[in-house]
Amino acid sequence: MAKVSILQCSGCGASLSPDNSKCAYCGSVNVITAEVDPFKLDADLKSKYTSYFREKAASNPRDVSALYSVGLFYLELKSYDLAVKNFSEAISQSPDDPDVYYYYVLALNGGKKPRKLMLKDASKMEEYLNTSLQLSRQAKTLYLLALIKEDFYTGNCLKMPGQDTASLVSEARTLPAADEDISFMLNHVLIKDDNLLSLINNQ
Ligand SMILES: [Zn+2]
Repeated sequence: MAKVSILQCSGCGASLSPDNSKCAYCGSVNVITAEVDPFKLDADLKSKYTSYFREKAASNPRDVSALYSVGLFYLELKSYDLAVKNFSEAISQSPDDPDVYYYYVLALNGGKKPRKLMLKDASKMEEYLNTSLQLSRQAKTLYLLALIKEDFYTGNCLKMPGQDTASLVSEARTLPAADEDISFMLNHVLIKDDNLLSLINNQ
């Protein structure tokens, strides 16, 4: 699950907009910073935090967590070019967060069919996913790599380099995977092959 830092009321647990020093719901002044799933915030808060992190990143272009947070909000909106730009800047600041590479690849794929990628783009995406896997072996990353490789190489009748799909999927199945991560992934990668989808859905 993706995480961003937002303000939260420690009294009632409400998520608060970035300019709050007091809870708008219970009046508590105990406002804390909490790590939350950005995709679960309501639309108004998403929009406020997008502006907030965008300004933060503009005032400090080395702020990896602001760049990453903006990237996630754009990714969810399917504003892929803007998401790519923010993730790419976050990566150029050398993050060691495996999720930045993972979400960067989802943004690069841009809601399309992996088989339609150019070879150099598919190779670049594999490289980023392998970097993510070197930092942490996560099911969602293995599944995404399997989807991209299978659809791109097998779909285009090309020889697949490196770890094959079956081995990626069998490794992924030994690891915990959240349904919400899988559905988020499939929302940004267009796969029509039912056999391939069944590998991922029948965990
Ligand atoms: Zn409150």
